[in-house]
Amino acid sequence: MASTSNTPLGHVWLVGAGPGDPGYITVAGRDALRRAEVVVYDRLGTSELIGEAPAGALLIDAGKAADNHTLTQDEITALIVEHGRAGKRVVRLKGGDPYVFGRGGEEAAALADAGIPCTVIPGITSAIGGLAAGGIPVTHRGVATSFAVITGHEDPTKPEAGVHWERLATAVDTLVVLMGVGRLDGIARALIEGGRDASTPAALVQEASTPRQRIATGTLATIAQVAQDAGIKAPALFVVGDVAALQSTLDPRRLAPLAGKRVLVTRTRAQSSTLVDVLRAEGAWPVVLPAIELERRVDPAAVAKARTLLEASDYRWTIFTSANAVDVFMDELWEAGGDTRAFRDVGICAIGPGTAQALARRGLRADVVAEESISEGILTMLVDTGKITGWRVLLPRAEGGREVLPDRLREAGAVVDELTLYLAAPPAEAPPEALAAVRNGEIDVVTFTSSSTVRNLATLLGGDLSALASATVVCIGPIVAETARELGLPPHVVAEEHTIEGMVAALRAYVHSTSTPISQTPGQAL
Ligand code: SAH
Repeated sequence: MASTSNTPLGHVWLVGAGPGDPGYITVAGRDALRRAEVVVYDRLGTSELIGEAPAGALLIDAGKAADNHTLTQDEITALIVEHGRAGKRVVRLKGGDPYVFGRGGEEAAALADAGIPCTVIPGITSAIGGLAAGGIPVTHRGVATSFAVITGHEDPTKPEAGVHWERLATAVDTLVVLMGVGRLDGIARALIEGGRDASTPAALVQEASTPRQRIATGTLATIAQVAQDAGIKAPALFVVGDVAALQSTLDPRRLAPLAGKRVLVTRTRAQSSTLVDVLRAEGAWPVVLPAIELERRVDPAAVAKARTLLEASDYRWTIFTSANAVDVFMDELWEAGGDTRAFRDVGICAIGPGTAQALARRGLRADVVAEESISEGILTMLVDTGKITGWRVLLPRAEGGREVLPDRLREAGAVVDELTLYLAAPPAEAPPEALAAVRNGEIDVVTFTSSSTVRNLATLLGGDLSALASATVVCIGPIVAETARELGLPPHVVAEEHTIEGMVAALRAYVHSTSTPISQTPGQAL
């Protein structure tokens, strides 16, 4: 029936989110998500992707409705039809692939019936990609040439069960069972009864491709007990076949130094993305616990005065001590009606390459960059240039920052105008999952990019950093390292190049040189 209504036609994208690692969504899926007006999402595999939706998008957790009950499939279908009909761009985000035990087919069919356009964007199914993340290839030359993906949801002891375990048992090389953790014993028995050898290698991968990933290996005969002893819980993949024996060889942690490491990232959320991306690219699992929150403490009159003096060329130098100082000052300068031209006749000093990078992003080139991320470095450089006496210096900075720099500049005869812009304070509330990971000693590596992240993390943890005692401690530079040492966390790695990339490179080299390779059990050779 042709529609004559003025309501624009909506569109629904059924998007596969992949098994959990937010990097495993497709480019098409992320593009759809970034343009969505409504997102209806399942819990499994999607939690870290929700942030990709635009700020104003309506986010609906299909696993938890307003009255706290789980939406039924009919309710979910009705919901996406309703929003599609209202002319919205709707993304229905599902874990793994939408058509692998995701009921995506039913949703697409319902949309077609309702006359609402729909596009299906496939995803990486946990059955293949999740296994790979756990170090198990679903096929392998000479080992497995076929696989089946099976639901373990149905009770194998019931005669009317839809899954023919006895026929599947020997029909394919690799059996991947989803939703089967609760029935491992029954499934394993059914497979053995169907003729599969009880000594066939078997494995479980829990929460594959997430920082919570756990793996247990055994044989068809032992796997149910192994899983119980290891406390393996849903969601998990149950794999049976000779490929399971390759896990010890292809464990990602064996293939790259940072793979599988849970790395605590303590920067502000706004600043953590580069570090998170660099870590993820090497297979590490960043756990983001922002230990600082920037609270702007700006006096507009002081900014206006700084702008006037800058534009009148009264300052000889401006010294930026951090990327935050650059960002807040440039924002405030803009708000005050100024822009980069204010620096036309002013020398710009950056302390540390990260600060220089922040300036570059604002279109400003630092005349002097301190090699070391410490105030003493810049000071020596400035004093060495000669006549500092009588120079007027602008110092945009954090409240409560270190006093060494202004004090020494004044001693050298400079006139220093400190411009307080922000306070780096511990956040009012920290993400509970990340806090729990720290408290439970689950963190392998902790990264510190500024002294305030060290101090604030200690505050967040009630003054006690001992939960991190067994973690590898990495600092971006010597001053941060000193703070970590003072607070009882002597660093293992101090970056020589004081940038995020430099810090990760130093960490990689350290882990590579100190790690004992994950040994290969005899008899499990390729
Ligand atoms: N459409 C999904 C599967 C949905 S059924 C896909 O293609 O992956 C839900 C089951 O998938 C879970 O019970 C579990 O067996 C499996 N699963 C999904 N994500 C998983 C993950 N990250 N780790 C382990 N198993 C996962």
